[in-house]
Amino acid sequence: MKKNIFLILVLLSGMITFSVNASDKISLKTPDIVRVAIVRDSREVVLAIHGNYRLRDMSSGHVIAHGLRLAECKVRLLDRGILVGLDIYPARRLTIESSKDASIIIDNRPFRGEVTLIRTSDNRITAVNNINVEDYIKGVLYHEVSHHWPMEALKAQAVAARTYALYSLNPSGKIYDVTNDIYSQVYGGRESERYRTDLAVERTRGQILTFNGVIIPAYFHATCGGMTEDAHELWNITDISPLRGVPCPFCKNSPHMHWKNNFRLKDVQETLKRHGYKIDTIKDISVVDRDRSERIDHLKITQNNGQELILKGKDFREIMGPNVIKSNNYEISMKGYYVDLIGRGWGHGVGMCQWGALGMAQQQFTYEQILSYYYPGSQLMNYHELEKPETIKDSKPSLHNTK
Ligand SMILES: [Zn+2]
Repeated sequence: MKKNIFLILVLLSGMITFSVNASDKISLKTPDIVRVAIVRDSREVVLAIHGNYRLRDMSSGHVIAHGLRLAECKVRLLDRGILVGLDIYPARRLTIESSKDASIIIDNRPFRGEVTLIRTSDNRITAVNNINVEDYIKGVLYHEVSHHWPMEALKAQAVAARTYALYSLNPSGKIYDVTNDIYSQVYGGRESERYRTDLAVERTRGQILTFNGVIIPAYFHATCGGMTEDAHELWNITDISPLRGVPCPFCKNSPHMHWKNNFRLKDVQETLKRHGYKIDTIKDISVVDRDRSERIDHLKITQNNGQELILKGKDFREIMGPNVIKSNNYEISMKGYYVDLIGRGWGHGVGMCQWGALGMAQQQFTYEQILSYYYPGSQLMNYHELEKPETIKDSKPSLHNTK
């Protein structure tokens, strides 16, 4: 292979030289490329490339190897550079560019676009998939909704996910925009593409939600349970109409509409202690107040020693785990050494209710109507028409976009 010949030449000459030609310029990041961290801080990555590829040293911008196919091999870090199979590349950032139909297989998962292998400051490997936003959304949608849902619900989800992705671009000081786990949007790469979800992405190509010409953080969640939540109740975020709660009569048939969970008071005490709260044996937990969507604003935890601890409902949910306490809208029933939480909905409740969008689509609402219902006052536009790709910048929530 050519790259081996190249490497031999480098070793023979004892110095590193690169061939440069006009087509080898670094491509600057365009606003429609999303950088997804697909591996973070790993000692080793398993790599294969099915198809034509080039390796580019990102500090010089030069192509330093190319080939027709790369058999499965391990990527590790050495003092001298990045080891790919048997070849050492003296680079801190190595980008794999592949031809359109090729796949880059990282840890047995195929990805489109480019993958950059980055040596992080603590000598680990982070792999970032640089992917066109439309392809990224194709890899996200399957994980967010069922691909059997009506097309209008899938299209609404495609626009919300695309908007959220573009809102997430360029976080300060990060080598990637989003992660592929629950803290951003779950992204499964090529394996997660399905015909109908791909179609929903194609049919809404480029469309995003804006407010006064600015990209909004289009949050969404599984099931609101009756009313969506005001974003400013949860996060330090500008109070704009698209992020205010609306009544939702459309998610009644969601399997997440009702939930019940039982906790041992001792376990609640231990969990609170682990999170830095000084707390004695718990005697009672009660609701102090609720916000206008009926979600719990404050909780009171009374202890055996008579002391009371007032906690924000949203903090209690995060401490106990957002998938353990599925929503912040519940009743409390004390049962001796145990407590029952009987709740409604799943997720933070801000923005589009996914099961509500399904209910609206089943009632023949269009995706435009679904989006303007859950993001009131927002405008649908093509992001290529944005004068500047500005977003509403606020402190980003620590919770998962959809939970
Ligand atoms: Zn709902």
